[in-house]
Amino acid sequence: MYQGKNSDEINKLPFPFDPEKIDYLLLTHAHLDHSGLIPKLVASGFRGRIITTTATADLVEIMLYDSAHIQEKDAEWLTKKSFRAGKDEVFEPLYTSEDVAASIPFFDRKTYRVIESLGDGIKYRFVDAGHILGSGSLELWFQGIGGEKKIVFSGDVGKNENPIINDPEHVVEADYVLVESTYGNRFHKSMDESIDEMVDAIKTTFKKGGNVLFPAFAIGRTQDILYILNRLIKTGRLRDVDVYVDSPLADKATKIYMAHPEFFDAEAVNLFKFRTADGMRLHFTTSVEESQKINKIKSGAIIIAGSGMCEGGRIRHHFKHNLWRPECSIIFTGFQVRGTLGRLIVDGIKNVRVLGEEMAVRAKVYTIGGFSAHADQKELLEWLGSFQNKPEVFIVHGEESVSLAFEKIVQEKLGFKTRVPSKGEEFEL
Ligand SMILES: [Zn+2]
Repeated sequence: MYQGKNSDEINKLPFPFDPEKIDYLLLTHAHLDHSGLIPKLVASGFRGRIITTTATADLVEIMLYDSAHIQEKDAEWLTKKSFRAGKDEVFEPLYTSEDVAASIPFFDRKTYRVIESLGDGIKYRFVDAGHILGSGSLELWFQGIGGEKKIVFSGDVGKNENPIINDPEHVVEADYVLVESTYGNRFHKSMDESIDEMVDAIKTTFKKGGNVLFPAFAIGRTQDILYILNRLIKTGRLRDVDVYVDSPLADKATKIYMAHPEFFDAEAVNLFKFRTADGMRLHFTTSVEESQKINKIKSGAIIIAGSGMCEGGRIRHHFKHNLWRPECSIIFTGFQVRGTLGRLIVDGIKNVRVLGEEMAVRAKVYTIGGFSAHADQKELLEWLGSFQNKPEVFIVHGEESVSLAFEKIVQEKLGFKTRVPSKGEEFEL
């Protein structure tokens, strides 16, 4: 699913293939840029199997229902607006909750590290990508010219010090690799430095009498931030903090996280107990009324709300009450796609439109890259460097200039044959 500029129009275009002819969809993780068009795929005639890990299947279900809900509300709002303007145009949602319900029976739930067969000599296995709960890289074997070949899809690769979940597993052998390159041209600060920066930002903001806003994906990032805040409070670095998680989706996603401790790393098993955290007053708001109550709080609150790139969701309501106040802070911890409101604010724009209202950006804006769920250039190179037999590498999933910059580094440091394919380009393996 496309995000950012013109994404609504792009997402409505027909698939560039016949969905009825697809036998399998292998899904690396739950994030909507990977999973968000599944209901449209099924509605367009896909009748194959959707193969993913157990935790991903759990997360995808709540994400898709949430996505459908947003699509339905948007279409309703646009239709109403059009009727009020006398144009009488009816807008259709990209897909509905019914389309999501129809997609769920197609999912097959698998575990990491087990080789499964799809027939015709095709086999696959998920290994832990360390990106979000349930995320996988995918190894796939098939009968190529002159025998069996292996292709590895990185999925989104996590970083090594990721909170909660395990570090990415490295694969040592492949003929072909498709690797993501979101941060292929950048280096994150270490987790410790990033945590120091976060503590500093929170303390400074509270001293000034403001609130701290975290625009965050409901799945993955929200749980990471909660986990880190919990640790900061347990170790006495932060005290008496009210944390508001203003997202029904995040509430559901956090419950799924808690239900899958088998995916946690050793430290998280002990620390991931938010609801009983000493000193952290944690509030999950689900109703609109509860959410509106937060608007009255002028200082001392940490508010975590979606969407992560500020394109929709309740974060916009919190912007309305905090973005123009110089004593408040916005902390961005995730990648902001070009063309999104989040990216504009990160890039230093002075005035924005939020919920139809012109607004000055006076709150202090922090970008803390060390909490990213993505590997940086060094970690991507380490991940690729584990391949012992010089595979041919296709660099994908990045802004073009970033992918091209990363390609140069891969050639220089690893000597692998590389390509940065353009959309729709075909290769014979
Ligand atoms: Zn992702």
